[in-house]
Amino acid sequence: MTFDINKIRKDFPLLQEKIYGKPLVYLDNGATTQKPQQVIDAITQIYEKQNSNIHRGVHYLSDLMTASYEEARETVKTFINAKKSNEIIFTSGATEAINTVAHSFGDKYVQKGDKILVCETEHHSNIVPWQMLCKRKDAKLIKIPVTETGELNQEAYLNLLDDKVKLVAVSQVSNAFGTVFPIDDIIRQAHSVGAKVLVDGAQGIQHQTTNVQASDMDFYVFSGHKIYAETGIGVLYAKEKLLEEMPPYKGGGDMIKSVSFEQTKYADLPYKFEAGTTNYVGAVSLKEALNYLSNIGIEEIYQYENELMQYATNKLLDIEGLTIYGTAKNKAASLSFLLDGVHFYDTGIVLDKAGIAVRTGTHCAEPGMKHFNIQGTVRASFALYNTKAEIDILAEGIKKVKKLFL
Ligand code: PMP
Repeated sequence: MTFDINKIRKDFPLLQEKIYGKPLVYLDNGATTQKPQQVIDAITQIYEKQNSNIHRGVHYLSDLMTASYEEARETVKTFINAKKSNEIIFTSGATEAINTVAHSFGDKYVQKGDKILVCETEHHSNIVPWQMLCKRKDAKLIKIPVTETGELNQEAYLNLLDDKVKLVAVSQVSNAFGTVFPIDDIIRQAHSVGAKVLVDGAQGIQHQTTNVQASDMDFYVFSGHKIYAETGIGVLYAKEKLLEEMPPYKGGGDMIKSVSFEQTKYADLPYKFEAGTTNYVGAVSLKEALNYLSNIGIEEIYQYENELMQYATNKLLDIEGLTIYGTAKNKAASLSFLLDGVHFYDTGIVLDKAGIAVRTGTHCAEPGMKHFNIQGTVRASFALYNTKAEIDILAEGIKKVKKLFL
């Protein structure tokens, strides 16, 4: 399919809304994306025609729902090019997926004195679970510094790698600064000292092709709501061998083969990691969202969003007194900026009154803000449905902020 922006925009009902009587300019896609009709319809269809708990009943609806849920797993497998569908674990989101690895992998393999390396600009979700693990195990959490452009400091990273490093955690794309990290190199280098790598794809998967096998990822996580699906669904991918070796994180129904008070036998993959009633409706919404993107073509989306980023960067740099934080060569979908002499919160409030939704604050990346010696930024983050015309409106809005405050 060719990239038809007018048709794409019509697929998203919420984009047709007005805010304070003005057309909505939704530039908070890093926080969550809007949903296409196809996804909304799939959710409605389940509750109108199909809803039943999965894996439990012998009855018709339960079988139907189970089949849809497992189809969703297959769709995720294909989308990220995993080898097997049992390497796909459904979670409530990226955060739960990272916590699962921190507990299941961390409790088994991380020992006193071991090291975990985490990039300095990571989202708190990719810092705090590792910090908690290191506390439990008396291990060391070490930050990999970034350069003044917000790129990984390669030299420092290589110097930090040794045989005490058990895991490296890094995002595919920084949510706060838009940096696209060189995942393939980071993984190859970590593997050379025997460390595993967790890639946080929460801000990556919706913007660029992801191939877990080609990149040789050990762990990959993402959240459905940032890729046009429902909230409360996410994915943990891990290599089968790792998942086989790791103990489950949560106990409960559906993750067992047999239970007695003396001993419980865990279920085979992937169910060992899916205790309790999972968000099966969310999983189907994710399937629909991934199908929607595949239909448009993730490469086409990448090209289009890249053009938007270039356009937005140039437009914003034209505004005197505006500084962009994060100036990596390779960036995706997020622009963090500040106006000299104006608090980010004030900028956000004035833009809101013009119908423009942006994010303000630390973007859950306080250490990253500290690196740049700032309290926070205004962040405009783009999705496949944004347009150059919207970026023009943003630029005009920022100029209005300047007039009001300076
Ligand atoms: N990692 C990154 C890079 C993110 O941007 C986010 C969400 N902002 C998360 C992890 C956490 O995602 P969730 O809250 O959906 O679990």
